[in-house]
Amino acid sequence: MKPNEGRLQTAEHVLSHILEHREPAARVVIANFQDDSGLLEVSSVEDLRTIDLAKLQTDVNKVWKHLAVKKYVLNRNEAEKQFDLSRLPGSIAEVRIVEIIGFDTTPCKDLHVENTSEIGVFTLESVKKVGKDRYRFSFRVD
Ligand SMILES: [Zn+2]
Repeated sequence: MKPNEGRLQTAEHVLSHILEHREPAARVVIANFQDDSGLLEVSSVEDLRTIDLAKLQTDVNKVWKHLAVKKYVLNRNEAEKQFDLSRLPGSIAEVRIVEIIGFDTTPCKDLHVENTSEIGVFTLESVKKVGKDRYRFSFRVD
């Protein structure tokens, strides 16, 4: 396990939530993590390079107060009532849920912190166009 993985993973949930709510055309496609940085690929018909990165960064950091992060397991039938599980392999019968209390609930099997206050300072470094309707955000936590 990488030392910052839980922090980056949890930061990614917050960034994805804010992006998808602010930019209705945006859909998170995939996230990748290195030692202390993360990449988030997002599909969007709108050009995401025009968004105000400084404001997005500020808004992500505002969530870093003291929100508890709860993890639990739902059986697939229950989870399907709340989430789009179309990308989850059919063999998976139990779905792990990550809930940032009062903010966001997302199915995710990865590692996360117990409280958003553990994440530290989030920095949004860049957004690049990496294909048709596809944008890559890079970020770090310190
Ligand atoms: Zn996650």
